Amino acid sequence: MKDQNCIFCKIANGEIPSNTVYEDENFRVILDLSPASKGHALILPKEHAENLFTLPEETAQGAILVAKKVGAAMMEALSCTGLNLVQNNGASAGQTVMHFHLHLIPRYDGDGAMVQWEPHSSDPAEQEQIAEKIREALA
Ligand code: 5GP
Ligand code: ZN
Repeated sequence: MKDQNCIFCKIANGEIPSNTVYEDENFRVILDLSPASKGHALILPKEHAENLFTLPEETAQGAILVAKKVGAAMMEALSCTGLNLVQNNGASAGQTVMHFHLHLIPRYDGDGAMVQWEPHSSDPAEQEQIAEKIREALA
């Protein structure tokens, strides 16, 4: 299903033009309008889903396969020395467009693209409690 008010639905389905680097039956991969680095691309499913948790399983699997295929081509074509996959869910995680998308961010030594976080120390007892909570939710 498409969402009439969703810009990524319109781009993914070709109603709004984009710099498309790859397209198949289920996905379109486009260049990001405000790239974090040269070649920053977005994998868009053609079907609307707000985030990873509402995405059908098959589409989630397909997105990773597209990342593998297009990411490898980007490594070759752009001569980047690394590539980050980033996928934001929810405004507090930095999601600004509420249509699932997977970022492919090519990295070049010293490019300063800000996709790294600052590491904090962890408390072993708290870590155990957190792990237990997640295990319970999965049970
Ligand atoms: P988010 O922050 O939701 O994970 O990422 C949204 C991304 O979409 C941002 O990197 C932003 O630059 C990109 N973006 C937003 N609107 C458009 C658009 O109309 N066209 C393209 N190509 N990229 C867009
Ligand atoms: Zn959409």
